[in-house]
Amino acid sequence: MLIVGTDEAAVEHDLLSGGLACPKCRGPLSPWGHACARPLHLVGGEVVQLTPRRAICRAHPTAMTHVLLPDASLLRRRDHVEVIGSAISQHVDGAGQRPIAVSLGVSREKVRGWLQAFAVAAGEIRAHFTRWAHALDPELGAIAPAREAVADALSAIGVAVRAYVLRFGPTPEWGVVARLSGGVLLCNTKLPFPAVP
Ligand SMILES: [Zn+2]
Repeated sequence: MLIVGTDEAAVEHDLLSGGLACPKCRGPLSPWGHACARPLHLVGGEVVQLTPRRAICRAHPTAMTHVLLPDASLLRRRDHVEVIGSAISQHVDGAGQRPIAVSLGVSREKVRGWLQAFAVAAGEIRAHFTRWAHALDPELGAIAPAREAVADALSAIGVAVRAYVLRFGPTPEWGVVARLSGGVLLCNTKLPFPAVP
């Protein structure tokens, strides 16, 4: 899987011109049909159908295909990354699961699942985004610890996103998170984060 932008025309152009690199070997990817359609719940409750592009890398002994997942989404999650990010931010600000669920128009079970997954991986998330923050901004000093693991993880995310925006220009915060986490923000106990360049 490879996280790409949400502009389908730009992704298609990159794919056709060999501008997308295989996440395993950095070789050029070529178009290879589409992955299964899946619903994506947006902020505000609207649902859109997402049909991610699939690409192939022919450099491997048995050609390897990758799903190109837009940075609006995370692997194995059906809600827009901004919805999930808002739940995490509200939780760190002290909100309970029920008010978070009501504010986002999702079930409490869903919010609990996101928060549990984030809490389980908080140490790894903090380490990964701290590495990214320093990779994006070599001048950056140490990131002071906050109060507890989950707040520390969110704070490292914030620093990395700021460094990303300073370098590449305004970008939606949680889209940057999807991208820098390789889409596995909430399933990193099963799938490792991609290496930080
Ligand atoms: Zn490859």
